[in-house]
Amino acid sequence: MNRFIPENLERVKTEIDRAARRSGRDPVSVQIVAVSKGAQTAAIRSAKAAGIRAFGENRVQEFLRKYRDIGPEVEWHFVGHLQRNKVRRLVNKIKLIHSLDRWELAVELDRWALQEGAFFDTLVQVNMAREKSKHGLYEEEVRDFLTAAAGLPGLRVRGLMTIAPYAENPEEVRPFFRGLRQLAAKHQAIPGLKIDFLSMGMTQDFTVAVEEGSNIVRIGTAIFGLQREGKGKDHDQETGG
Ligand SMILES: *Cc1c(COP(=O)(O)O)cnc(C)c1O
Repeated sequence: MNRFIPENLERVKTEIDRAARRSGRDPVSVQIVAVSKGAQTAAIRSAKAAGIRAFGENRVQEFLRKYRDIGPEVEWHFVGHLQRNKVRRLVNKIKLIHSLDRWELAVELDRWALQEGAFFDTLVQVNMAREKSKHGLYEEEVRDFLTAAAGLPGLRVRGLMTIAPYAENPEEVRPFFRGLRQLAAKHQAIPGLKIDFLSMGMTQDFTVAVEEGSNIVRIGTAIFGLQREGKGKDHDQETGG
């Protein structure tokens, strides 16, 4: 057992509680997705024992390996850039894809979902800071994308996701979180869609994200520590064949 994981989790929960209360929100409205990329199965089990229900992965191979070990007794979320040729392997295994970042992927998700008589719940990833190095739609592309996605029966778009730029001071990225919340509010009226989820906030900035209305935080390092392999700059990547 990893003794430090329950302690880390307590700390994270306390900070979420405080941030939620500061902004007049109920802390239970914030779901934690523990981003377990690079973490070992034993660490995932420790986090599960400490009460975490949802785990996030950003590589298909690594996810499938862990899924074989741990299986559907926890929720699995996919948070990385997803290649179309790997979509099929995720059907009926992933609770929520946070990283729907282009139309071709929407089409592929829909196709495989229908083929298997299933559906994919997804969030649309928005590149709020317009960083060249990151995936995701620009704000002004979101309306047309959502409208079109509402017509794909294998897909249920449930909300929006963003990855903030790296910043020493998380206050610097507050405008991006606020912007995502406003974007979601603006698009509530699109027929056939219910934009309930805002996935925003990671280790460096989750308290600010919660203050700005996040209801899903994706937290890796603050729970599993820095030692995991495959960490580093890898916030938005799916590499290899
Ligand atoms: C790795 C990752 C996270 C978690 O990052 P930490 O800084 O370790 O909390 C969240 N979201 C995405 C998309 C990631 O790739």
